[in-house]
Amino acid sequence: MDADLVVVGSGLFGLTIAERVANDLGKRVVIVERRSHIGGNAWSETEPITGIEVHRYGAHLFHTSNEKVWDYVNRFTSFTGYQHHVYTTHKGVVFPMPVNLGTINQFFSAAYRPDQAKALIKEQSQELGNKEPSNFVEKGISLVGRPLYEAFFMNYTAKQWQTEPENLPASIVSRLPVRYTYNNRYFNDTYEGLPTDGYGAWLTRMIDNPLITVLTETDFFDDSHEYSKSKVVGTVPVVYTGPVDRYFDYVEGDLSWRTIDLEEEVLTDTGDFQGTSVMNYADLDVPFTRIHEFRHFHPERHYPTDKTVIHREYSRFAKRDDEPYYPINTDDDRAKLAKYRELAASEPEVIFGGRLGTYKYLDMHMAIASALMTYETVLRPHFNDGDP
Ligand code: UDP
Repeated sequence: MDADLVVVGSGLFGLTIAERVANDLGKRVVIVERRSHIGGNAWSETEPITGIEVHRYGAHLFHTSNEKVWDYVNRFTSFTGYQHHVYTTHKGVVFPMPVNLGTINQFFSAAYRPDQAKALIKEQSQELGNKEPSNFVEKGISLVGRPLYEAFFMNYTAKQWQTEPENLPASIVSRLPVRYTYNNRYFNDTYEGLPTDGYGAWLTRMIDNPLITVLTETDFFDDSHEYSKSKVVGTVPVVYTGPVDRYFDYVEGDLSWRTIDLEEEVLTDTGDFQGTSVMNYADLDVPFTRIHEFRHFHPERHYPTDKTVIHREYSRFAKRDDEPYYPINTDDDRAKLAKYRELAASEPEVIFGGRLGTYKYLDMHMAIASALMTYETVLRPHFNDGDP
C-alpha cells in the first residue's frame, strides 16, 4: 500500500487534512472519492453556454472570523471583495434578509428608529415570557416577534426542512443575525469573499502535491480495490468524512438529512433575471425555497450581458442514495448519533470529520478549522512521535 494516510472524501475537511499531512509532514496521502471530482459540495464548474461559474451543489459563500483559517485559505487562492446580501419575496413584495431595520420598517410600513423597533419586537415576543427558547419556533419568535417569524421564517423553514419547527434546534435560526440598523449584510464575519478564479481552481490547488493521489469514482465500501474499508482500516490511519451511519452500515438506524434538488435554467433572453445573487421565497405558494443567479456572485468578471444562469432550489428528505446536505438533528437523530459516536470512539485508527462524518451543520470555514485542529492535535503528533 502506497499510503501513510487514507482520506475518505475530498470536501474541505478531507482536503485540508491531505494538504497538511503531505505538505507539512511529507507523508503520502491517498484520497478516496466516490464522485468524479474533488471538493465535496463546494465544487464549481463553468456552465458551457454562458461561461458563468456555477456552484454545482448550491451556492457557497466563504466567510470567517478565524484569522488562522483566513491565512490558511489565502495560501491557495485570493478572494474577491464579494459581500453576500439576500432578499426574500413575501406576498409579492421583496424584503431584505436577514431581518434588519429596513425589513422591519418595510413590513410594518413604518419609520421606527432602532429603539422603537427593539421595543416593538420585544412586545411581539412577549408570549414566551422569561422562558429560554428551546427550539426553532421559540428562538425565532424571541428574535423577531411572531408576525415577522410567521412571514419570513415559518413557511420558508417548512419548505426547507419539512419538519415541525418545534422539533428543529434553535441553533438553525441563530445562524442568521437580526440587526436594528440598515446593515443588511448576510454574514457578520470579519473576512468574506469568493475565490478569485473559482472554487474548482482553489480546491484543486490545495492538493497540488505529488505525494497526494486522488482516486475519484472510487467507493470506500467497494471491496474490489486496494483502498477499501476492509483493506485499510487497522492497516493505515484513516480520516473518514463520509456519513457516519453509512460507515457502520446503519446498525443504529439512519440519521436524517435533507437534500436539495437544483433545477438549472440558462436564460438567453436576458442578462439579468433577478438583479441579485439569491432571492428567497418565504411563502408556500412557491414550491422552491430560493433562486440563485450565479453571475451576481462575480460582478468583477466579464460575463455575457445577454445570458444568465439560475438555479431553483427545492429541498426534501434525503433517501440513502441522495446527496446529504443538512443534518436535521431531531431528538431521535441525537440519540442515534450518541450511539454512533460510541462506535466511532472504539474504531481503531479512524478519525471521523467533516459535516457528514460528525453530523454537524459545518460551514466551509468551520470544516477547515476543525481539520486544522485535528491535524495539529492528532495527526501531527501521531506521525512525529508515533502517538496513537
Ligand atoms: N431561514 C428562514 N428564512 C430565510 C432564510 C433562512 O426561515 O429567508 C431559516 C431556515 O430555517 C434556514 C436557517 O434560517 O435553514 C438558516 O439559514 P441559512 O441561510 O444560514 O441556511 P443555508 O444557506 O445554510 O441553507
